[in-house]
Amino acid sequence: MWWLVRMSSLATRLMRPLGLLIRGVQDALLPQTCVIGGEWIPGGGPPTCAACDAALTDITQTHYCPRCGRTMPPPAVDSDGCARCKHESFWNVAGVVRIGAYEPPIRRLVTALKYGGRERNAELAGRLLAAALAARDWSRHLDYLVPVPMHWFRRWQRPCDHAALLAAVVARELDVRLLRACARIKHTPSQVVTTSRTQRFDNVRGCFAVRRGAPRKLAGRCVCIIDNLISTGATVHEVSKTLRRAGARRIYAAVIARTTLPGDIQATPPRTVGHDPPSDSAFDR
Ligand SMILES: [Zn+2]
Ligand SMILES: [Zn+2]
Repeated sequence: MWWLVRMSSLATRLMRPLGLLIRGVQDALLPQTCVIGGEWIPGGGPPTCAACDAALTDITQTHYCPRCGRTMPPPAVDSDGCARCKHESFWNVAGVVRIGAYEPPIRRLVTALKYGGRERNAELAGRLLAAALAARDWSRHLDYLVPVPMHWFRRWQRPCDHAALLAAVVARELDVRLLRACARIKHTPSQVVTTSRTQRFDNVRGCFAVRRGAPRKLAGRCVCIIDNLISTGATVHEVSKTLRRAGARRIYAAVIARTTLPGDIQATPPRTVGHDPPSDSAFDR
């Protein structure tokens, strides 16, 4: 087990400088376009145009369940969560913060970071997520932010480790320490091809292991898992089990988006802006 964790951290460490170099060159050479809609932004400037910026602000006002992150109007939620998460025995995080539902324009933010990398995409998503976290009282008691780890082979296929990039921006904005507490020790098929809920939970079972030295830091601590997306909740569930076994006392999760499932209530229909990419394949890994 330990050699798998070691190999994973070594591969991650070797690939990090290369990723930084590639993203730096990308940001210097590629045209500065709106992260959401893709419109040209003259002279670089902010990561979004004024229209997309306004749409993002609208989206972040949408009410959601503070326990599971699903879009819900206030009457559907009480201090224990909503009708859905109250009956999900696997739901083992104390609360979820999200920027919005996994619909345009937030969907574009998820895919831009996951498949495009680029510091400016991470900056935009990270700052919005930090603002959402700062609105929750519990964020003031966080000891660590823990990004969901990526397997070294998947990292090799992708332009960046999006959860780690996102967590680094949030950690800086909120002045909370970043802890790479876990390693992903099994390479599994993408969650995109494992369609059923049961398959998704089976797919990630036993995928994570705690890194050497992390239990000493985690014992009795309050932590927040950082990822791009929650769909079924299988990944967050598995990571939180690993952190709890390592001694973490209270565990939360913060993500860019939460998917909308059949039966979820639309508190505010989001406006569609920009061009969403053809791929809809950004479900949690
Ligand atoms: Zn735009
Ligand atoms: Zn809920």
